[in-house]
Amino acid sequence: KTYAAAEDRYDKIEYRRAGHSGLDLPAFSFGLWQKFGTDHPYETQRDIVLHAFDLGITHFDNADRYGPPHRAAQQLLGRVLGKDLAPYRDELILSTKAGNPIGPSPYQKGGSRKSLLASLDHSLRDLGTDYVDIFYSHRADPTTPLEETVGALVSAVQQGKALYAGISNYQPERAHEAADLLRRSGVPLLVHQPRYSIFDRSPENNGLLKLAAEDGFGLVVYSPLAQGLLTDKYLDGIPAGARAENSTFLSPDVIDDTYRRRANALNQIAEQRGQSLAQLALQWVLRQPQVTSALIGASSVRQLDHNVRALEFPPLTEEELALIDEHGVH
Ligand code: NDP
Repeated sequence: KTYAAAEDRYDKIEYRRAGHSGLDLPAFSFGLWQKFGTDHPYETQRDIVLHAFDLGITHFDNADRYGPPHRAAQQLLGRVLGKDLAPYRDELILSTKAGNPIGPSPYQKGGSRKSLLASLDHSLRDLGTDYVDIFYSHRADPTTPLEETVGALVSAVQQGKALYAGISNYQPERAHEAADLLRRSGVPLLVHQPRYSIFDRSPENNGLLKLAAEDGFGLVVYSPLAQGLLTDKYLDGIPAGARAENSTFLSPDVIDDTYRRRANALNQIAEQRGQSLAQLALQWVLRQPQVTSALIGASSVRQLDHNVRALEFPPLTEEELALIDEHGVH
């Protein structure tokens, strides 16, 4: 059947300005890292993507690597873009990344100009679009001069293949150098994509949050739910089909007594606020003004509906934040 986007889609979540740019991003962005390969049914994947858009989630995060196999998540999104979302391209922020290994060739990894620009062209073909909105260097490559990696991002923008440049997983010092080089090339760094959650506070501890404010870029933070560990799903074991059951990226070994103790304590704080642990965890990352968007995954429409309600609750108090600090350090 023909898809028509929900008319009230812009009334549901807030939009936040990315750093010193002119671009607003939804408080929640949707990522296709897991469960969007060829190993899951297309109909379910399509429903989740369209439902996200109906909820006002205009930003879809992808990478050449996502699948399995590599590239499958972009091909899947390309299929949805080619049909259901075709009338809405101007309302979508599409991101892709390159620089993590995707094959055995020396040009399928690293931060060289060759590998980044070849990957971007391939991603555009997979997505079936002329341009992406944000093109990221997926991770820093210490073996390649930063000028070369940054130069490839600048070229992508100058060639009209990307509107903005981003970096991901860069340590603050290198992020600052990249921001500097980009600014001097006339393509300011739009966003940095680090991991950030109650269980991984590195952006607070390594100075990245502070740097974002100083250098004027936004943060799109990934795995704010620690891949599902910051929800109530693992409190009583591992439910069938959960990521910890079948993903190489989340080992069931992390669900031990220490984890359960912490998660239960955090869950109680959430319950006292009348919300779920997932909603508490999302509110927690979004309390930082430098965090433009929380980049979430979901394996069902229900999870999405539930998670985007996180901002309907009162702000976290100092007392609650202190309690979270006490229990949440992993
Ligand atoms: P999250 O921490 O949001 O984890 C999402 C997963 O948690 C879901 O897929 C689901 O897993 C589970 N979940 C979500 N909501 C609920 C709920 N309400 N109740 C129970 N379980 C729930 O983020 P991800 O780790 O998925 O990362 C998000 C995105 O960030 C990725 O898709 C990718 O775009 C990006 N990313 C970027 C990286 C980078 O290097 N730049 C690295 C990693 C991610 P389940 O399958 O168990 O249901």
